[in-house]
Amino acid sequence: MGMNRDERDLRQAIVMACREMTAAGINQGTSGNISVRVDGGILLTPSGLPYDQMTPEDIVFMAWDGGWTAREGNVPSTEWRFHLDILKAKPETGAVVHAHPAYCTILAIMQKSIPAIHYMIAAGGGNDVPCAPYAQYGTAELSQLALEALADRRACLLAHHGLIATGVSLRKAMWLAIEVETLAKQYHGCLQIGTPPLLPDEEIDSILRRWGQYGLRDRKPLAAVPSSAA
Ligand SMILES: [Zn+2]
Repeated sequence: MGMNRDERDLRQAIVMACREMTAAGINQGTSGNISVRVDGGILLTPSGLPYDQMTPEDIVFMAWDGGWTAREGNVPSTEWRFHLDILKAKPETGAVVHAHPAYCTILAIMQKSIPAIHYMIAAGGGNDVPCAPYAQYGTAELSQLALEALADRRACLLAHHGLIATGVSLRKAMWLAIEVETLAKQYHGCLQIGTPPLLPDEEIDSILRRWGQYGLRDRKPLAAVPSSAA
């Protein structure tokens, strides 16, 4: 397949982001997967390939109609459907990160959305990170439920499954995935003590106005909390 330099860089960025998911502790095995918008479709991680063995050539291209090209032996992530549907439905979204981080998944098993326990909830685009109802992995039904949960959010939980985080760029989607796992950990901790008090909607609206339409600025380290928001 012909691959220009930009595409090669994007493929490399996806491989690096997969390894960062593991380093950041938000990945379990190879359950995480990542997609990035490109001309004509998406670049997507292959199914079941350990990240330390993954190279840029292993990343799968999938056209908007679902047709795909991959190096021999590779197939698209089993979660290709919601990656494709989210990037198709949300033109402002450039990347989708999916994983089963421990605390997000604990809340997802309990079918709990993350409420406005902390102002950083606004990083997800509103006053909560909603939990989409359960549907089996890889199905069109799961994709539809995820799209509904993401209607005016950049992140959601998937009941009995895990997390989806999106962003205008891969960097922002990765940052948000780590941020939502932090919020999930905080909420889990609060629930050990009691029912946490929540920030009012007006406060979250005010934070969202301060951050502007796309939220936080890009910073170089994927996992760093921007100082302007800390
Ligand atoms: Zn999954």
